[in-house]
Amino acid sequence: MKVTVFGIGYVGLVQGAVLAEVGHDVVCIDIDANKVERLKQGHIPIYEPGLEALVKENHAAGRLNFTTDAAAGVKHGEVQFIAVGTPPDEDGSADLKYVLAVAETIAQYMEAHQIIIDKSTVPVGTADKVSAKITQVLAARQRDDLSFDVVSNPEFLKEGSAVADCMRPDRIVIGTNSKTAEDVMRELYAPFNRNHEKIIVMDVRSAELTKYAANCMLATKISFMNEMANLAEMLGADIEMVRQGIGSDQRIGYQFLYAGVGYGGSCFPKDVQALIRTAVSIDFDAKVLKAVESRNNEQKSLLFKNISRHFNGELRGKTFALWGLSFKPNTDDMREAPSRVLIEALWTAGAVVQAFDPEAMEEAQRIYGSHESLRLCGTKEEALRNANALIIVTEWSAFKAPDFELIAERLLKPVIFDGRNLFEPIRMKKKGFQYYSIGRQCQLKNPNE
Ligand code: NAD
Repeated sequence: MKVTVFGIGYVGLVQGAVLAEVGHDVVCIDIDANKVERLKQGHIPIYEPGLEALVKENHAAGRLNFTTDAAAGVKHGEVQFIAVGTPPDEDGSADLKYVLAVAETIAQYMEAHQIIIDKSTVPVGTADKVSAKITQVLAARQRDDLSFDVVSNPEFLKEGSAVADCMRPDRIVIGTNSKTAEDVMRELYAPFNRNHEKIIVMDVRSAELTKYAANCMLATKISFMNEMANLAEMLGADIEMVRQGIGSDQRIGYQFLYAGVGYGGSCFPKDVQALIRTAVSIDFDAKVLKAVESRNNEQKSLLFKNISRHFNGELRGKTFALWGLSFKPNTDDMREAPSRVLIEALWTAGAVVQAFDPEAMEEAQRIYGSHESLRLCGTKEEALRNANALIIVTEWSAFKAPDFELIAERLLKPVIFDGRNLFEPIRMKKKGFQYYSIGRQCQLKNPNE
């Protein structure tokens, strides 16, 4: 099938590459000419395991092409994916300007029936807005004869395993009331639906809400565990034991039950916020969602509070080794990353940060430039040199079994703040470390103080 994808970001590029891999003929369009040019030359703009080979192979085979030429792109596709960003507006609601700009572009150039697929995460009612925009432009073109369907097809990939998630999706949600559109979508996704039925067809509004409900549910699990971790710390319990104790209940399960430094990334924070705003717009008080967001905001500053307390508030002139910049492992994405909240708080307190991340160094350089209080180090060992303590923010595999002797040797004093509970407190004590983790020791009377 001939497919057009608007937006070459995490979602658009992965989706385009995966569709090309199964044989579809895909054209990806972006307004970022530099990104398009570099992709044509084989430079992959983001880090995702398996993505580089997939893009290069399918590009070489002629099934995956990149352009800024929207007219040619619209002409190419039997279906048009909208996979552009929906960042938070000033008040936290999803900003639809990019989505509606693509809708306008499609309407400007379409010459036959089109199926327009909302892949971006968009609030309930967006498909209606996209339809209205297209109808308006077609009317201005005096092409009311052209028909179209707007389908909601939210994306559930996880950054860090985006290719695998798209190749083997748990489910494919299709929101449409049109039988024609449903048939085309079933044909498009048939290669991913062979093992067992994964396609769930529903009305458009339910599909739009399903995406937000999924992300908000996951964010709720994280905030709940962080709340339990704070309680565990104050009550002398160990959150890791509690996690195993409740995870073994099949109704709860082990996934997404880790306490840590709060959720980040380009999706959970903005999607929780956007659904709260949607609720406000219909005069509904989303009490649970507001609590999830508020717990997360506090959790992001917990590490800094622990560090500050350990050093009696005297952080000026101190140096900290920081392992992990990306918001989670296996990605270079630093959007809303807890590392940023911590780094900026340390700078405000007068400290210097020596950071290492396996994939996000370029991204950190792009965000912070040559900040005088940030040293980006080539290895995790280099980051340790003469630092007052080590702080672990992201649970990359490479951090899980480090050389503790070397850490102790390179740090000025053997102090570790672990935001991901990677190590056993007792073992760390035996190794001579002062070891702070999340929700596992009675180090603090009240972590909220
Ligand atoms: P992104 O910021 O990585 O990429 C968006 C791309 O769209 C950019 O390259 C931008 O230049 C391009 N763009 C903007 N306007 C355009 C236009 N008019 N025409 C063509 N291209 C245009 O975004 P992303 O992370 O891929 O997210 C896209 C959407 O998918 C968002 O709504 C997001 O919430 C949702 N989503 C993201 C993820 C994720 O893990 N990143 C997962 C599921 C859903």
